[in-house]
Parts: sequence; C-alpha cells; structure tokens
Amino acid sequence: MSNKIFKAIWLVAITVFLASLIFIMGISYNYFTSLQKKQLKNETDLAARGVALSGMVYFDQLQAADYRITWIDGEGNVLFDNEADFQTMENHLERKEVKEALEKGYGQAVRFSDTLSDQQLYAAQRLPDGTVLRLSIVQTTVWALVLGFAQPICLVIFMALLLSVFLASHLARKIVKPINEIDPDHPEAYYGKENYKEVEPLLRHISAQRRQLKADQDQIEKTALIRQEFTTNVSHELKTPLHAISGYAELLANGLVKEEDVRPFARRIYDESSRLSQLVEDIIDLTRLDSGDLEMEWEDCDLYRIGENALDSLEAAAEARNVSLDLSGSRSMMKGIPQLLYSIVYNLCDNAIKYNYPGGWVKLVVTPSEKEIALSVKDSGIGIAKEDQDRIFERFYRVDKSHSKEVGGTGLGLSIVKHALLLHGGRIRLQSQPGQGSEFVVTFPLSAYRNFTKA
Ligand code: ADP
Repeated sequence: MSNKIFKAIWLVAITVFLASLIFIMGISYNYFTSLQKKQLKNETDLAARGVALSGMVYFDQLQAADYRITWIDGEGNVLFDNEADFQTMENHLERKEVKEALEKGYGQAVRFSDTLSDQQLYAAQRLPDGTVLRLSIVQTTVWALVLGFAQPICLVIFMALLLSVFLASHLARKIVKPINEIDPDHPEAYYGKENYKEVEPLLRHISAQRRQLKADQDQIEKTALIRQEFTTNVSHELKTPLHAISGYAELLANGLVKEEDVRPFARRIYDESSRLSQLVEDIIDLTRLDSGDLEMEWEDCDLYRIGENALDSLEAAAEARNVSLDLSGSRSMMKGIPQLLYSIVYNLCDNAIKYNYPGGWVKLVVTPSEKEIALSVKDSGIGIAKEDQDRIFERFYRVDKSHSKEVGGTGLGLSIVKHALLLHGGRIRLQSQPGQGSEFVVTFPLSAYRNFTKA
C-alpha cells in the first residue's frame, strides 16, 4: 500500500512540475518574442538614421551577422541586401512591412521567408528620402528557447525528481505508519486520536465486524455445547429402557419368572419399548427441526381443525386418565406446515392430560383476530413452579423425572414445540401455579399471511 501511495504522490508531483514547466516555457516564449520585436524596432531606427546620414557607405562598415538588412526604394526595387543577391530579388512593394512603412513611416511583420526558409521578424522604416530600410531577424523558435534553457532545465528536473522521490516516500511512510500501528484487537482505542481522524470510519467498521464475529463465535460454541449435551443425553435416555427390556427378557428367557409374574413382566417390556419408540420418534423430529432438513410443504391450514384432530387422537389417553377435553373457538386460517402445527397442539394437549389429576379437565381455545391467531391450552393439572417455567423448554428437562416416565414422557415434547414455533414466527406464554393448573398460550402473527385468513 505504501508503494501505491508513493507512486500516486510521485506521479502527481511530476505531473504538476511538468505542467508548470510547459506553462512557464509558453510565457517565456511570448516574452522573448515581444523583446525581440522591440529590439528589432530599435535597431531598425538606428540603422535608418545611419543610412539617412551616410547612404550606401553605411553598409560598407556594417557588421550585422545576426540581422538581414534590405534597402528598398520608393517603387519597391531592392537597392541592397546583405544576405541575398539584390539584383535578382523581386519587387518588394507588396510586402506588408514595406507597404506599412511607406504609408505610415514604420511597419512590422512576421513571415516565413522564401529566400531564407525561416520564420522571420521584419521591421521597416521609411527614410526622409522616401526609401525604406528593412531589418529582419530569425524568430527564436520554442525549441531554440528550450535548447537554450536545456542545461538549467535538466538541472531543475533532476532536482525535482530527487526532491519528489524523497518527499513522496516520506509522505507515503507518514500516511501508512499510523495505519500499520493499529492494534486490530482494540480499534476503539484510536477513536478521536489526531492521526486517526480520517480512518475512524474504517476503525468503527473493524470494531463492528469484530463484535459480530464474537457473537457468531459465541453462538457456534453454544450450539456445539447444546449438541454435545444432547448426544450424551440421548445415549443415556436410550440405554435406560433398553437395559430394562433386555433385563426382563433375560429373566423370562431363563425361566426365572414365576408363572403369575410373566404377564406383568411382559407389560413392562411393552411399556419400555413404547417409550423407546416414542423417544426415537421425538429425537428424529427434533434433529430434523434442528438441521432444517424438512421436506414438509407450507400450506393454508385451519388451526381450529388441527386442534380438533389432535384432541381426537388424544381421546383414549384422556379417557384412561379420566380427564375431560373441550374445544372452542372458530376457524382460523394461517399459512404453515401442517405436521408441525399438529405436533405443537398435540404436545401441549398431551402434557395437559399427562400432568393432570384424575377427574380434571383440558380446554383448548383457538381464536383468530386482526393481527394474530391465539391458541390456548388450559388444564386443571399439577401446575409448574416458577423456577421451572423457563427450563421445561430445554431438551430432556423434566420437573419430576419419575412422574414423566410413568406417564410416558420423553422430556422432548416442549423442545419440539419451541422449535416448530420458531419456524412459524410464533410465541409461547405460560401461566401456572403449582396445584392450580397451567395455561400455555401460543400466538402466530398474521401480518405475513393476512390474505389467507380472509379465505
Ligand atoms: P415430557 O415428555 O416429560 O412431558 P416435555 O418437554 O413435554 O417433556 O415437558 C417437560 C416437562 O415440563 C415435563 O416433564 C413436566 O414436568 C412439565 N410440564 C409440561 N407441561 C406441563 C403441564 N401442562 N402441567 C405441568 N407440568 C408440565
């Protein structure tokens, strides 16, 4: 980067320098030309006086190597020329400077001379006897001027090059140094500091990115920890019913069970294997939700209808525990994944039955409104203590492990509910007191799929 800055500064310095040089040369050229014209006029004036005084003799003693001198009579005939053969020269009456001199006493012109093949400056002066004396000189060209200045120009260019290289590298280093000294771990430390004002937006950007990176990293670590815990818990949870099943089966196989105990043993094997298959199903559901590997379609669903189906499936379980089920509310259309919406309602109602007292009740209410659909599952069950209310949504968390096992719980039902809700942008609220029942209220926002509610 410092190399690039150096090149940029150096290029700018050299460009400015060359542009100034060309500009100065242009001005100098104009200045020299006007000086030359003025000088020529003076010389012509002096020579005219000389010729007026001495006539042709003046030319004999003349040493004018730089000047061309021509003497022309009133009719334009050339009487004398110090550089060309005057006898062969054509009539000069039509030459601008001669014409002007004859008319006004003095004339000037700049022209390409055919005779001398050069850009010439001409000055002509009328003498008292009516003849005209003309002096001309080769106009200095730009190149001649540059050539004349070649030595000092080369010296100045050389010095400018040296100076610009030195200044550019010094400046480049000065600009880059504070940037290189930034500690990327603490960009905030440079806010407001003198040398860092220009790069403060960059510092703020670095700082924001670092914060984002840290948050992402924390999230990744947290997720990894949850996954690891989950794997440990899964193997433990699977082993327990498997050990029980193989233990009972071994006793039966070895004929170590009394005749009257065979049926209860078979019942235990049946219960444990049901629990095992429920557990495997829940783990599969949760893993799918976790990895986002869902092959399910979003559809227009009626949440009331889904509630009806869930209660139908739970009827036998409710009857067995002597718990009454009640559904109220109205048709509530929303866009969602029907299997997941079903598992939300099913799990909440299943819990409301499982953690209830015999003779208790469960009320499911589905109510649509302008902004959202609310689904409430209220029970007359055992309730949940304040300190457990957040934790019950964690995987494998059970308030009373043995009770959960007894009623066929896996500790994963509410985790599945939480995940499925997240996918639908829904929220869950819990109101409960031990011994006084619980109410879970789920809300789904309708803003994203309002059109479907009017169907
Ligand atoms: P489980 O399979 O054990 O029911 P859940 O994740 O569905 O797992 O629930 C976690 C725990 O939350 C349960 O073990 C239970 O202790 C408590 N719980 C859930 N719903 C209720 C409820 N309606 N009444 C009382 N306790 C409940």
